[in-house]
Formats: sequence, structure tokens, C-alpha cells
Amino acid sequence: MSEVMAVGEKTPRIGFVSLGCPKALTDSELILTQLSAEGYQTSKTFEGADLVIVNTCGFIDDAVKESLDTIGEALAENGKVIVTGCLGAKAGEGGGNLVRQIHPSVLAVTGPHATQEVMDAVHANLPKPHDPFVDLVPAAGVKLTPKHYAYLKISEGCNHRCTFCIIPSMRGDLVSRPIGDVLKEAKALFEGGVKELLVISQDTSAYGVDLKYRTGFHDGRPVKTRMLELVQALGEMAEPFGAWVRLHYVYPYPSVDEVIPLMATGKVLPYLDVPFQHSHPDVLRRMKRPASGEKNLERIQRWREACPEIVIRSTFIAGFPGETEEEFEHLLEFMREARIDRAGCFAYSPVEGAAANELPGMVPAELREERRARFMAVAEEVSASKLRERVGATMQVLVDSAPALGRKGGVGRSYADAPEIDGTVRLLPPEKLSKQLKVGEFTKARIVGAEGHDLIAVPV
Ligand code: SF4
Repeated sequence: MSEVMAVGEKTPRIGFVSLGCPKALTDSELILTQLSAEGYQTSKTFEGADLVIVNTCGFIDDAVKESLDTIGEALAENGKVIVTGCLGAKAGEGGGNLVRQIHPSVLAVTGPHATQEVMDAVHANLPKPHDPFVDLVPAAGVKLTPKHYAYLKISEGCNHRCTFCIIPSMRGDLVSRPIGDVLKEAKALFEGGVKELLVISQDTSAYGVDLKYRTGFHDGRPVKTRMLELVQALGEMAEPFGAWVRLHYVYPYPSVDEVIPLMATGKVLPYLDVPFQHSHPDVLRRMKRPASGEKNLERIQRWREACPEIVIRSTFIAGFPGETEEEFEHLLEFMREARIDRAGCFAYSPVEGAAANELPGMVPAELREERRARFMAVAEEVSASKLRERVGATMQVLVDSAPALGRKGGVGRSYADAPEIDGTVRLLPPEKLSKQLKVGEFTKARIVGAEGHDLIAVPV
């Protein structure tokens, strides 16, 4: 099976041939996504491309021949060829690399699952273009996520300078995508069957700050480039598709309060991913965290009053330089009182180039790890008790997997579970024999138990 894929016609252009099995196709998708995210375009023809990548198969003799012939063809028609995939890992006579023995002029050869090596070879031979917007978002056609959920990146870079983070030095200051483009992409995703849209960025609450909240247009209507208006528009857009909108990386600024009523009325999921990192004001100041002066506990309590079903996910750092036992206990107390539904915690680890490395009072590694474990014990207690409270309730579940139409059950997620990072809802076989479960569709499910980070439920 072979396919020459095309994403567009702008330079620099890469010809891409994918040969072989579904695993090879997944590798191709990864490489194409990365190429697309970095602003490369793909060409339909070898001659129209600046470089060609051939993802090969080495399973049976016919496949080896087809791969070697394709490489030869690409070399003849284009001249600049990078080879990846199973054949790339195969030894030839005398133990050398088979591809290199037959086609010594190829630029680089890698084995399978080698996206980074392939990208390094591409960068070395065809420097990547600079386009901040293309850098942000893979073209909708080259998605790695299952078809029913998709990430919508609304901005790149960050105006903050948290002392443990080097993202701003790598990606620069905040660059918000124009709201018209963001909404157009969201619409295309919903129309393409996406049932859950995950809004991401480095700082979702800051969306539009760099553009001074400029008014843009979508479907001929003016819309401000600002988080509230964006969330409102996404919520309205999702409604006719019966789709979910989930917000990630939101900082607890007062402006976020305005989004909570949209959650309470079901326009967007009552789920907020807020990376608090710590609770003690002195630690937050040393971290130079955004919104570090805010009274986070009171803010969370107000959010919960306005929208009782809100689920809060967060990440924390234990053992940040200078963290005293008292400051750490403040964090544990915060965790108990705020009852963060989903919390992750990292033991502080110095990142090369981060300002925090220069702070006095580095906490010994064992103590950092010990605090992380103590934090997680509290977090797991909170999370488990919150999950137990759901037993007996009926929830809307988006089905992620359902072999044999769910006759033996499947796996899904409720509004409280973001894909990849939170728990799941393990679905038992449906009560009614006639009921089927389909991936990417919703089902109601009665919660019958909780285990670890997951719920167990019967589809009804
Ligand atoms: S950790 Fe801080 S500096 Fe880094 S991306 Fe997030 S807000 Fe910006």
C-alpha cells in the first residue's frame, strides 16, 4: 500500500510516501503532523518537492522491493531523499545498512518510530520556515488524536516569567491567534465530527492581551479577541453538534469569574485546568507565578458556589527552592480545603537555563521526593472521596473505546475527565441487550463504583 500525501502547496515542500502497515502509517502521521506544525507543506509530486521522505516497509520481499524501488524513483526524480521505517533498520550483506548499500546517495536513514531523527534530518537539509501561526497548529487534516476529540491551540508563547520555566525563552512572548481563525478552525473540527474540543495554550486566560483584545470577525459578526468572548462563541458553536468544550491552562485571574456562569448553564464543560503550582504566597512570589497575589482558596470557593459541579484539575511543585516545612504544610492544607478534584505533583527539578536554579535554599532531592509523596497521598485521598460521591449518579459519558459495539463494555470519559491526563469511566456491558456503544458517541451511564482515578459505570 502506498500513498503520496498532500497538505498544501507553499514552500518549503516535502514529498511524503508512506508504505506498509498501519503502524508505519501512524509513524507517517506523527512525522506529517510535526512537519505541518513546523510550517512545512507537502507536495503531491516528487519534482514539486524540495525533499522527499520515504517511510518504508521491510516485512516481506515484495515490500522490500517496493520500498527500494520507491527510494530509487524519488532519488531519480528529486535527488534529496530521507528514508525511515522498518527497511531503514535492516542490515544488508556483510552487516552494513541495506538501504545505504543499494542507494548510497540518500541523505539519511532511520528505523521505525523515529520522528525526532527524521525531523533532525529534515532540519539539516531544509531549514524550517518561521510562521508563528503555523508553528502553533497542525493542519486539521493531520490529527493524532482520535477523530472525536481535538485540541484547539489559541495562542503560542507566554508573557510571564515563572522562575522554573524556560518556555518564554524558547517560544517568546504571547502571540494570540486571530479570533476569526480560531473560530473557523473550531467550526471545521465540529463539522468534521469532533465531539470534544480542548482549548489549549500556555495561558488561556491571557488570550488576546497582545492584540489589545482587538475585534475580529467570524461569520460576518464582530467578536473580541478575549477569553470570555471566545468561550461564549465556542459554547454556542458546539451546541448544535452536541459537543463538549473543555478549557485548559487557565490562571485564576478575576476575569475568569465571568466564565463560570457559562459553565453553570452548560455552555462549556464545568471543568477548569488551573496550574496553581503552590499555595503559599511567598513561594508563589519566588516562582513569579501569574495571579500570585490572588486569594485562590476564596476564589475556588466562589466558583463552587456559582457552579457546584465544577471540577478543578491542577498541578503543583513540591520542594521548590527555599520551601520551608511550614510553606509545604500550607500547600497540604490548601489541597485539603480546596478539594482539588484532579491534582498532579512534581518534585522540583532544576531545568537548565531556568532562573529558579539561582535561588538560595535548594531543597535536598530526597526531601523534594518525600514532599511530593506526602502531597500525592493527600491528593489521592481527596480525589478518591470525590469520586465515591459520584456513585449512584447518572452521567453523560463520551465513549473512547467500545470493542464489538460495547457488548462487553468499553471505556469512556465524563465531563470530569480530560483525555490522557485524568481518569476514565470504565463501562460495563449495557443493561439492555439492544444497547450499543459507539466510539465518539455519548451514552448515559449509571455510576456503580470507583477505583483509583476511575469510575465504573453501567450504560443505560
Ligand atoms: S509556567 Fe509561567 S512562564 Fe512558563 S509558560 Fe506557564 S505561565 Fe508562562
